[in-house]
Amino acid sequence: MSSKEKGLERPDSVGPQEMRGILFVVSSPSGGGKGTLIQRVLKQVPNLSYSVSYTTRAPRNAEVEGREYFFVTPEKFEGMVAAGEFLEWAQVHGKLYGTSRHQVAREVFEGRDIILEVDVQGAASVRELVTDSVSIFILPPSVEILRQRLIARATDSPEELELRLRHAPAELKHYKAFGYVIINDEVEGAAKRLSCIIEAERVRRARQEPQIKRVGESFS
Ligand code: 5GP
Repeated sequence: MSSKEKGLERPDSVGPQEMRGILFVVSSPSGGGKGTLIQRVLKQVPNLSYSVSYTTRAPRNAEVEGREYFFVTPEKFEGMVAAGEFLEWAQVHGKLYGTSRHQVAREVFEGRDIILEVDVQGAASVRELVTDSVSIFILPPSVEILRQRLIARATDSPEELELRLRHAPAELKHYKAFGYVIINDEVEGAAKRLSCIIEAERVRRARQEPQIKRVGESFS
């Protein structure tokens, strides 16, 4: 197994595909606005899916089981950790969050690109496991706007809000480990930049070798 595939194995149900999908790892401090950006980009960019994480935190108002997250008990989460079901997992703001190894492997080996929305610890794990993944950090334009967004979202208790704001400066310091940074000053433009990153990564020469080879063969 190559180092690229350390954390991901081709599921038996997936036949041999020429193209492997790309893992896009998106992180930002809570309230950085990545959720909105990702929703837009998923609507605009074809052949792109979203990794639905597991978490032990409670659902917020409009969140739907299986859409934003799979909401599980700490016991169930620990069982999944023991069974090796997570590609990565981390404790974030006192709760557990994990990425399904199976879901990511299925998408990637079926040739679809996938967005993982994870914290900075999760991003570091995925970068190490999947060396050709693409990591993108979303920055709020200022701490004041971050605070306003968290308040406007009105989904966190005052304690949770305080915790998220308190963790933000430490999270920001990790930006240097990411390949791309988007300052989310205005959602339309920021979503456009995220789509552009995805499209540009798709046409990297190294990712298109099989197609290029076929073109070459048609010439000989
Ligand atoms: P929230 O509770 O606001 O939805 O998410 C809190 C933090 O957990 C965010 O930084 C989010 O990106 C991160 N997160 C969500 N899912 C995962 C996951 O599967 N793994 C890791 N490491 N972090 C996650």
